[in-house]
Amino acid sequence: MSAMAAARLGFRPHVFGPEADGPGMQVAAARTVAAYEDADALHRFAAAVDVVTFEFENVPAATLAALEGRVECRPGLKALSVCQDRLAEKRFLESVGVPVAPWRAVHSPTDLRAAIADLGLPAVLKTTRMGYDGRGQAVLRAPADAEAAFARLAPHPLVLEGFVPFTHELSAVAARGADGSMAVYEASENRHAGGILDVSLVPAGVPAAAAEEARRLVARVAEGLELVGVVALEMFLLPDGSLLANEIAPRPHNSGHWTIDACACSQFEQHVRAVAGLPLGPVSRHAAAVEMRNLIGPAGLAAWPGFVARGDAVCHWYGKEEAREGRKLGHVNLLRG
Ligand code: AMP
Repeated sequence: MSAMAAARLGFRPHVFGPEADGPGMQVAAARTVAAYEDADALHRFAAAVDVVTFEFENVPAATLAALEGRVECRPGLKALSVCQDRLAEKRFLESVGVPVAPWRAVHSPTDLRAAIADLGLPAVLKTTRMGYDGRGQAVLRAPADAEAAFARLAPHPLVLEGFVPFTHELSAVAARGADGSMAVYEASENRHAGGILDVSLVPAGVPAAAAEEARRLVARVAEGLELVGVVALEMFLLPDGSLLANEIAPRPHNSGHWTIDACACSQFEQHVRAVAGLPLGPVSRHAAAVEMRNLIGPAGLAAWPGFVARGDAVCHWYGKEEAREGRKLGHVNLLRG
């Protein structure tokens, strides 16, 4: 989607990645199919492009480090490193005054017992690396759950988070330009199924003050990371109206896909604009409301023809090879008014 937004602005996106038929590869002007660790391929890639960005925060930090000495990388290593590691992420969020759920680092079963004693149960045990879409986490409801969860989740260390009794999940997306300018989209309300984003709604069905606070918090994250590009912040809304941050994504985010069809300038175009050093675009919404629905796994594949046949759905299909369970295959934006 970023490659398509770049092409629309007249750029020729060159995609680097390990999969020859990945969605980005299918729409790129140039491709390098290579492992992230392939130093020669990275060298040639750096020489062929003007600026580098990434859409996936599990690109190894060493890959970005290898590129950073040769070509401008936006965002840079700082944002990537913070967002690859839940412990670094929590420390960063606290350092910029963005509240998070109570947490403890867990290096051993002894740490886990102490953390449970501190935070109480239920609590959520998570990997600090490579966790997304609810993977790499376990809800602990009783002390007896602890040992098996510690053994199952890898790599270590882990992090234990207090269970957040949220009323809603929200996120907001901010773009920050190379000159420090900022554009922040409206917050969306996100509903998950099985730990995976299912639906995003805009406007969010939450008090206006909470939606505005969500925008302020993501802007603080973008500033604190000195990020050039787009960043999303996932948050929990508590019964008292306050927000806790859950996770940062230093890239366009699934919960911002509504912007493709409901805004003149999507999160992907903002990302390209920021990375290319162009002025940021508008963030205003031109539909009264929008509902973004993910198409996930075999059920998403089965639902696709029905959405394509509807007059009120703007349909996006990613061209992934297999409709595996839990895999995001596409999404639709349902525009109202
Ligand atoms: P994550 O992989 O951290 O984005 O978590 C995936 C989903 O699990 C979130 O969107 C929440 O629905 C739920 N979740 C994660 N952490 C917590 C928590 N500390 N308390 C309650 N629910 C959580």
